[in-house]
Amino acid sequence: QERSFIMVKPEGVQRALVGEVIKRFEQRGFKLVGLKVLVPSKDIANVHYGEHEGKPFFPKLVGHITSGAVVAMVWEGKDIVKTGRAMIGATNPLASAPGTIRGDFAIDLGRNIVHGSDSVDSAQREIALWFSPDELA
Ligand code: ATP
Repeated sequence: QERSFIMVKPEGVQRALVGEVIKRFEQRGFKLVGLKVLVPSKDIANVHYGEHEGKPFFPKLVGHITSGAVVAMVWEGKDIVKTGRAMIGATNPLASAPGTIRGDFAIDLGRNIVHGSDSVDSAQREIALWFSPDELA
């Protein structure tokens, strides 16, 4: 079964949107196979956002994701990567459709509530980065 790494970012936790995000994935029919709350280290943030290293917004991006608790999750099901991205909505909330998580709860690119893996390959990489195998059902 396909898996994706989904993370509620610090602003989503602070705004008490964790239940809302989980509810949407459960309602859609996906299965929760991993979940934990943590304040990400600089190291894990640097690797997670490695593709953006060198870009002007990179320091802010890492500073933000390490600024507070996040909820890291692994969800499983048919086409979860693509469907999860569709449920989350476009990266820039100004372009995210109403009905998506970002389209319903965000207006700011740097505060877009939730992360979702953008391919099956990055899902595997991210799941291995954030979880050890014994933390997954
Ligand atoms: P995420 O990886 O968080 O799911 P994404 O895959 O939709 O988002 P990416 O292009 O991978 O988008 O960017 C990662 C994150 O970096 C975005 O969610 C956003 O918060 C931030 N970001 C992207 N581009 C910019 C930018 N130009 N200025 C500020 N922040 C940005």
